Amino acid sequence: MRFAVLASGSSGNATVVEAGGTSILIDCGLSVKRLAQRASVLDFDLSTLDAILVTHEHGDHVGGVGPLARRYGTPVYMTHGTQTAAGFDAERGIEVNEISPHEVFAIGSLTLKPSPVPHDAREPCQFVIESGPKRLGVLTDLGHDTRYIQQHFADCCALVLEFNHDIGLLFECEYPESVKERIAGPLGHFNNDQASGLLQQLKSTRLRYVLGAHVSARANRIDLVRRLLAEVLQDSETRWDVAEQDSATPWYAV
Ligand SMILES: [Zn+2]
Ligand SMILES: [Zn+2]
Repeated sequence: MRFAVLASGSSGNATVVEAGGTSILIDCGLSVKRLAQRASVLDFDLSTLDAILVTHEHGDHVGGVGPLARRYGTPVYMTHGTQTAAGFDAERGIEVNEISPHEVFAIGSLTLKPSPVPHDAREPCQFVIESGPKRLGVLTDLGHDTRYIQQHFADCCALVLEFNHDIGLLFECEYPESVKERIAGPLGHFNNDQASGLLQQLKSTRLRYVLGAHVSARANRIDLVRRLLAEVLQDSETRWDVAEQDSATPWYAV
C-alpha cells in the first residue's frame, strides 16, 4: 500500500491511497486543475481512480468532487447525510454510492472502515483503509476524540492526523469570535494538544509514518506541529512529516 496527501488545510484536502491495483481519493477540496498538477508531480493518473470517498460536506473536502467525478466518470462514496447536505441528490451524471458510517465496505482490493466523528457536519466520517495486513488511518475534522475513535484508529501502520490549531494562536488570530468558538468547540477541529494526546495513545511499534494534517494557516505554525511530532515520537522508530496546503507530499509506502 502507498499513499500521498495532495493538499491539506482549510483551502482544500485530498489524499490518494493505492494498493493491489485499486486506487481511491479521499476528499477533493481543490479544483481538478490544481489536483491534476499535484497528481502529475506524483506521476499519478487521476483517470485511474476507482473511487472518490467524501468524508463530509465542507467545501475544503467536497468542492472539487463533482467536477472530478464527471471528468473521469469516477464513482463517489459518501453517507446519506453528506450526500444530502452537499446537494449530490441533484447532481447528474455522477454515480453516488451511499455508505453507512458504521459499516465496513470494500472497493477493489481495499477494505474501508468508516468511523463517525464529532464535527459540525450532517453525517461526517473518517476512514481506516486496509489492504491485507496494511492499515492506514486518515483522521481530520473532529472536535474531540472518543473511546470509539481511539479504538478504531489503533494499530495503524500509518496515520494522517489533524493538528489544526494552537489554542493560544487561535484566540490571538484575526478570525471573528464566532469562528474561533466554532473551531475550538466540541464539533470543531482537533488542536495540537488533542492531537499529541491521541498520538501518544496510538503510537506503537507497527506505526511507520505519521503525517500532521489540516494545519490552520492562521491559527497554527508548521514548526510548532513539527516540534510536537518530534516530541511525541522521539523514543520510537516512527517517521513523521507535516502535510501542507500548497504542495503534495511524496508517496509513503506502508
Ligand atoms: Zn476540513
Ligand atoms: Zn470540516
